[in-house]
Amino acid sequence: MKRGLVFVISAPAGTGKTTLVKMLKDEFHNVVDSISFTTRSPRPNEVEGRDYNFITKDEFKKKIKEGEFLEYAEVFDQYYGTSRKYVESQQEKGKHVVMVIDTQGAMQLMGKFDAIYIFISPPTLEELMARLYRRKSEDEEAIRTRLSWAEKEMALAPKYNYHIVNDNLKVAYDALRSILIAEEHRNR
Ligand code: ADP
Ligand code: 5GP
Repeated sequence: MKRGLVFVISAPAGTGKTTLVKMLKDEFHNVVDSISFTTRSPRPNEVEGRDYNFITKDEFKKKIKEGEFLEYAEVFDQYYGTSRKYVESQQEKGKHVVMVIDTQGAMQLMGKFDAIYIFISPPTLEELMARLYRRKSEDEEAIRTRLSWAEKEMALAPKYNYHIVNDNLKVAYDALRSILIAEEHRNR
């Protein structure tokens, strides 16, 4: 069986990466999420083992020591990390794995981990703010923190293989699915 590919996707919080990745998984049944480990608490609509594996800081630190993470980072005072074993096992099953990780995690992998790196940005910071307010999952202060971090993350966009601007959702999705199809046909 052909080994699956890995797509590393970064985008500032509120850009629409969850929405876009969900569309990709709905259309392509050979695409799976990397299902990270995190120390943050679940949001009301999130399910353990589907959205994240929710663990304590002590458990997270133990996994760091044991080398279980392909990459990990501290984002907004919480730890997030990708299981090396999980990603590899999915690739071996022929699945394409989408890792939705922050720019710190992506920078750890670039140059040493074989993947397709995609950055998604909002059309403007004003629109990003509007989406964060509409989503209602963070309070005012958390939104401000996310906006200032978004500016820093956006400066790293040129380092990725692809850059998609999520202005019109359909246009952005067409770009994402086209990248997947093209990468499946690339000679390696
Ligand atoms: P992220 O996963 O990047 O934090 P989400 O996928 O949760 O972002 O999207 C943030 C909010 O913006 C959601 O309410 C989503 O429905 C909305 N959204 C996503 N893409 C667009 C778009 N192109 N235009 C307008 N709103 C969008
Ligand atoms: P959220 O708490 O909104 O789900 O995610 C916050 C940020 O953490 C997002 O930028 C998301 O991409 C990032 N993130 C989620 N999982 C991982 C991971 O395993 N590693 C890294 N480095 N970042 C992650």
